[in-house]
Amino acid sequence: MTEDAIDEAAIARAGRILKDGGLVAFPTETVYGLGGDALNPESSKKIYAAKGRPSDNPLIVHVCRWEDVAPIVEEIPKEAEKLAAAFWPGPMTMIFNKSSLVPYETTGGLDTVAVRFPSNKIAAAMIRAGGGYIAAPSANKSGRPSPTEALYCKEDLDGKVEMIIDGGQVGIGLESTIIDLTEEKPTILRPGYITKEMLEKVLGEVDVDRTIIAPNSGIRPKAPGMKYRHYAPQGDLAIVEGSPEHVVSYINEACGKAKAEGKVTGIICTDETRDRYQADYVYSAGTRSDEETVARQLFKILREFDDDGAQVLFSESFAGGGICMAIMNRLMKAAGQKVINADRESAEGGST
Ligand code: AMP
Ligand code: MG
Repeated sequence: MTEDAIDEAAIARAGRILKDGGLVAFPTETVYGLGGDALNPESSKKIYAAKGRPSDNPLIVHVCRWEDVAPIVEEIPKEAEKLAAAFWPGPMTMIFNKSSLVPYETTGGLDTVAVRFPSNKIAAAMIRAGGGYIAAPSANKSGRPSPTEALYCKEDLDGKVEMIIDGGQVGIGLESTIIDLTEEKPTILRPGYITKEMLEKVLGEVDVDRTIIAPNSGIRPKAPGMKYRHYAPQGDLAIVEGSPEHVVSYINEACGKAKAEGKVTGIICTDETRDRYQADYVYSAGTRSDEETVARQLFKILREFDDDGAQVLFSESFAGGGICMAIMNRLMKAAGQKVINADRESAEGGST
């Protein structure tokens, strides 16, 4: 179905499944979610089991009306009202102190709860039909890239969910921005489509969790899910940064070497550089002139490498402001934080 042509009978069926404690995978504007009744501890347990997700990694509670937030939180800070007015419905999740209505099974044992009001109309209709509070992590097997199309939900969760709603390819392609409002200063726990700059226009200065800026620091991230290795393709991925010239020649040379050893090679690049690479699989994620295109394609490409059987993988770097912070956060996780500086390699190796 599409947002403009909602299949009411299918939504009613999804609603019944959710109210009976079952699971439904569904589209949102960010990625596909795996939904269950957020106020039913048994449903949350089922979500963890279906994904193979560690039970200390809390679920985001999805609502479809602003007035539904109050009953599940202790209090609504002023900042939350401002952020909701600016960005809800939309790709932003806020952390509140939870009320007793929300079971600890849903929050991974925490006294806080993550809440999001998605803008996707199919999601909103399903949340309403399911009772108004739907716990939903991304609808992938734990550790794999989040699904941006219904077929990827089927790939990961077939037989483990009662229903998958196909709403086509999602618009954004990366999970929501998470902002914590339970600390003295609002803090971004996970970067997303709603950028630091956008949040600061509404709130003034916001902090970014240290672990996002310095992923190798060994500090424990505030969002429990951010500590897990995630999105990783089966092949060995490295990010290559530096001047475009050095990046292209480093990656081509490294792929040539890997190929000579009989390895299957793959590259993530952009429309601007696509024709300059040689490897078994060269995917342009989008264009540098509009990095939202890269956000939309990234997870799909990471999944495709697995289908291709690619073993040695390189990606161009997407360091920068705005949406790039979210792109790099996911890419760094996929690469196990491995970054190569092509300028330095070229100076040391003299290969270009
Ligand atoms: P996903 O549902 O796959 O998008 O993952 C949800 C993310 O939200 C994970 O990184 C969780 O750790 C994070 N999260 C959910 N609830 C909380 C919370 N109460 N406090 C901090 N992080 C949370
Ligand atoms: Mg996820």
